[in-house]
Amino acid sequence: MNNIDEKLQPIFADVMRRNHGEPEFLQAVQEVLESLGRVVAKHPDYIEQALIERICEPERQIIFRIPWVDDQGKVQINRGFRVQFNSALGPYKGGIRFHPSVNVGIIKFLGFEQTFKNALTGLPIGGGKGGSDFDPKGKSDGEIMRFCQSLMTELHRHLGEQTDVPAGDIGVGGREIGFMFGQYKRLNNRYEAGVFTGKALAYGGSRARTEATGYGNTYFVKAMLETKNSDFDGKRVVVSGSGNVAIYTIKKVQSFGGTVIACSDSSGYVVDEAGIDLDLLRDIKEVRRGRIVEYAQEKGGDVHFIPAEKGSIWDVACDVAMPSATQNELSGKDAKKLVSNGVVAVGEGANMPCTPEAVHIFQNAGVLFAPGKAANAGGVATSALEMQQNASRDSWSFQKTEERLASIMQGIHDTCAATADEYGAPGDYVLGANIAGFVRVAEAMRMLGVI
Ligand code: NDP
Repeated sequence: MNNIDEKLQPIFADVMRRNHGEPEFLQAVQEVLESLGRVVAKHPDYIEQALIERICEPERQIIFRIPWVDDQGKVQINRGFRVQFNSALGPYKGGIRFHPSVNVGIIKFLGFEQTFKNALTGLPIGGGKGGSDFDPKGKSDGEIMRFCQSLMTELHRHLGEQTDVPAGDIGVGGREIGFMFGQYKRLNNRYEAGVFTGKALAYGGSRARTEATGYGNTYFVKAMLETKNSDFDGKRVVVSGSGNVAIYTIKKVQSFGGTVIACSDSSGYVVDEAGIDLDLLRDIKEVRRGRIVEYAQEKGGDVHFIPAEKGSIWDVACDVAMPSATQNELSGKDAKKLVSNGVVAVGEGANMPCTPEAVHIFQNAGVLFAPGKAANAGGVATSALEMQQNASRDSWSFQKTEERLASIMQGIHDTCAATADEYGAPGDYVLGANIAGFVRVAEAMRMLGVI
């Protein structure tokens, strides 16, 4: 069962027929189509011109072999993906993910979401996503480098600063981007700084890019709270994950006076009622590349670690929940628990971390709910600012870049809120984000002919 308007049912049936076996992609398409009934009532030509079908079909999908040699001299094989989803607004733009769960359906869902997210920023960037089923955990620096070089040896021919511009995602941070950009530069014999974002400052990166996704989500939730004359001050906040997005969410929430009492990785979560010690967390995760249990071991006292099989981080009572790990990490059951514990706002730092059931529970309970395609758009928005700096051979201060980020996030918040009002669903940020993102892409596609 779904809540898609009857005029759009044949389109969804066709998407299901052509993409069966890709549940995450179908989930992402369903969520967008459920918001579009009111749009096609106003613009029947979106159906007549097959704009929705075209938006649901990636422009190009690339799947390739990645052979590499491990430290024991053994040949390993992984699979690489790049889905160039939509270039109506600009070059394809979206991160690369390294995680054993990666498959074409997951990359398609991420590329589809990315298309609308990038449109919401108001910046000239299309949507794409890539990745590999490579597991970076436990690999040496040498293995990571050889893997990244092999991936780029194939992928480089499909990239370019006017064509397709990747960045990081799960399992891909500054180290991996450096190795991939280095190999791209070598193969092309060009210093094309704008072909990658998330670069280190030393070779063309932007200040505040590393912080941008977590900071951006925090700005978005702050804007939602302000509509209820509230703020982060004194609030108990739970942030899942302990990677790039989670760490900078924790930092910004703390600067706004909130107390982050729990965070996690895939092995379990820690609760520190005094507030997460960010220096210790960063040392464990960014320097030692360790596991979250080490946080509890080193803190001792009342700080405890709960393994993933013994409970969910969403059992921890909080005012604000900011899921920042991965897709479908917050279930309907988790949402019920959060609501019964009095949660007032949820901001999706990760892509699609809440299941559809969880989203409905939050919305029906009147919880302020920020969907990832709006709330975590600060990362890609700052990537676009990095591209601007590369194009003009310039480097902005942290303050200037963060001010631009803050104003972009406020703009996205206001666009989603105004669109929800216009379509008769005040306070529904999911509907607002889906419609505003979709309409921007659809209007551009309409002007470009049948493409
Ligand atoms: P990182 O690799 O830096 O961190 C991911 C974190 O999530 C780790 O703590 C990881 O734990 C945890 N995690 C990953 N998979 C699972 C899983 N299956 N179950 C439980 N925990 C898991 O990635 P990012 O912080 O960059 O990305 C997090 C999310 O944010 C993703 O959904 C990504 O698509 C999204 N995002 C990221 C942006 C960015 O700029 N980086 C931009 C916009 C969205 P462990 O180490 O144990 O695997």
